[in-house]
Amino acid sequence: MSYGFGRLNELCDRAYNTSKEHGFWDTFDRVKTIRAAILADYNAAQTLAHFGIDDEFLVELENAIIAQKLALITSEVAEALEAHRESGFAGHTREDGKPEGWGSELADVGVRLGDLATKTGVNLEQEWVNKADFNDTRPRKHGKRY
Ligand SMILES: [Mg+2]
Repeated sequence: MSYGFGRLNELCDRAYNTSKEHGFWDTFDRVKTIRAAILADYNAAQTLAHFGIDDEFLVELENAIIAQKLALITSEVAEALEAHRESGFAGHTREDGKPEGWGSELADVGVRLGDLATKTGVNLEQEWVNKADFNDTRPRKHGKRY
């Protein structure tokens, strides 16, 4: 199926830029900086190794941060569940301008997903189209109960 590419990747980039500007990637980026220093500077590597900080440790730290980001996506799914439990598909805007409710929580899932996609170099729009095209070829429920 053909698809006219729209703005999904722009929204992913916007989510990432906002997240970065607000400091939510600072720790991850610091770990990247330390990894680069270890590779470039033998003395720095020796000093850090003295404290048990080597590349293997730093990769583990990066992986833990990615796991944290995935957990935060699931926390937004949980917020959508709670919004649905309280008000169904309704939404509203608080006095301070913050959108709340079902749609807003689904948007939060998308914002966090887009942030992570951009940071990790995923063309989410293309991946989405690829997956949708594949899903179109699958049989009804493809062996699953639901
Ligand atoms: Mg939320």
